[in-house]
Amino acid sequence: MPVSSRRKRSRDPDRPSGVLSERAAAALADARPVPFWTDRPERPDPRAALTGAAPRTDLLVVGGGFTGLWAAIQAKEADPGRDVVVVDAGRLGDGASGRNGGFLAPSLTHGLAQGVGCWPDEMRALDRLAAENVAAIEKALTAYGIDADHHVPGELTLALTEHQVTSVRESFELHRAHGMPVELLDAGQSRARVDSPRYLAGMYDPEVALVDPARLVWGLARAAESLGVRVHEHTRATGFDAEGVGVRVSLDGGSIHARRVVLGTNASPGVLKRLSAWVLPVYDHVLMTEPLTPAQLASVGWQGREGLTDAGNQFHYYRRTLDDRVLFGGYDANYHFPGRVDPALEQSDASHGLLADHFLDLFPQLEGIRFTHRWAGVIDTTSRFTPVFGTALGGRMAYAVGYTGLGVASTRFGAAVALDLVDGKDTELTRLGMVRRKPIPFPPEPIRYAAVRATRSSLAAEDRTGRRNLWLRTLDRLGVGFDS
Ligand SMILES: Cc1cc2nc3c(=O)[nH]c(=O)nc-3n(C[C@H](O)[C@H](O)[C@H](O)COP(=O)(O)OP(=O)(O)OC[C@H]3O[C@@H](n4cnc5c(N)ncnc54)[C@H](O)[C@@H]3O)c2cc1C
Repeated sequence: MPVSSRRKRSRDPDRPSGVLSERAAAALADARPVPFWTDRPERPDPRAALTGAAPRTDLLVVGGGFTGLWAAIQAKEADPGRDVVVVDAGRLGDGASGRNGGFLAPSLTHGLAQGVGCWPDEMRALDRLAAENVAAIEKALTAYGIDADHHVPGELTLALTEHQVTSVRESFELHRAHGMPVELLDAGQSRARVDSPRYLAGMYDPEVALVDPARLVWGLARAAESLGVRVHEHTRATGFDAEGVGVRVSLDGGSIHARRVVLGTNASPGVLKRLSAWVLPVYDHVLMTEPLTPAQLASVGWQGREGLTDAGNQFHYYRRTLDDRVLFGGYDANYHFPGRVDPALEQSDASHGLLADHFLDLFPQLEGIRFTHRWAGVIDTTSRFTPVFGTALGGRMAYAVGYTGLGVASTRFGAAVALDLVDGKDTELTRLGMVRRKPIPFPPEPIRYAAVRATRSSLAAEDRTGRRNLWLRTLDRLGVGFDS
């Protein structure tokens, strides 16, 4: 089949699910249906579940992803005498924290444009807090001896269409106006870094780091334990009731009394009912290639190992691993009625096949490459792309959820906010407008599903035409959006 006809079929927004082009089917034939990062022998054995009744703790952290683990570490660092317990419903790293692209971007606002749009008066403080947050992450990696393959190759945002060239230029101007050390690249300069015939222009941001996300989860868990935190896997929190000065937390194998509770449960449904008004679970799909041969590597260049992303609404993100595989994810952002979260949704021939086709469109010189892993993860999307913070149970519980696909760095900040909130502290963090004001809630079902579909197809149309339609302009006026 000629590439052009494959391309046409793969870009059809109404393509039937389960359709794989011939080359995508070949490339995916041996792919294991699990996340690459956690599918390695170095994965630690599971920690014991917390069972039985009546243990007590000063602070229970629900969720053993980045938010929960950073909350536990920061709580202990601030007060070594505080008893802290972390429970996770499954294995550490089974959530988004062990499934992501590993782009560690400083932004606390899902990018500069979003921050400037929502909190223009706070941007100076948010930029400073973002830099302090990244510095604290790097310090913790060193202090606790966490080897998460952290390196800082920067990120290239690439234009694949003429209208994306315009948006890359506008983004460059905005970043420069805010004093950010970005570089604008023309097609030749972009291709000199990474050789795709699709690249028309690029912006280089030197401040973005890459990590191995599962190693970061495992390292943070060990760091927490080294401070005395007790970490339990296969322990789901099923109910929360105010009791005395604290909270009685029901667990699937017992219960625990906690003076304070922090929730870092991402888009998991049913933990705290009110969260579903602000947070949508959106499936994001990912592929990992086999290690590239020296000849394949020479054909793409990519000596700088930059993290790559393209400038569309429906964007890909891709990066090299230190053993020279390529992770390639994004584009489709699938919301399933009525906010369904189910491991059965992780394997999608439609989304994985589209990714495989897009990968080969970008790098035709890699025709014949095989993917070893295909998976998906749940992005906790809010209408303003930044977390929702708050308290419940009369201030005994705090939550930080809704990072909308940019949480590798900002979860540490989110955890710090949740700790200040649950301790009733009035701090610079708790005074931020981003913390005090909630995002606009999503409408209830079935309007929610219809609105997400309308928004997705409008964003896809903008990617094709470069024009924002009436629906998107209306959402812009309301300060609402959809992203991953
Ligand atoms: C495919 C994908 C790619 C991404 N790529 C990037 C990227 O490159 N860069 C970036 O910055 N961000 C990225 N993100 C987003 C980032 O991974 C998340 O923002 C971040 O990991 C969120 O961490 P968390 O701890 O809040 O949630 P999670 O890591 O999801 O952890 C939540 C934990 O809570 C547990 N839990 C839920 N309910 C309960 C309960 N009742 N009791 C006990 N435990 C419970 C779950 O088992 C889970 O382990 C990506 C996300 C996905 C899905």
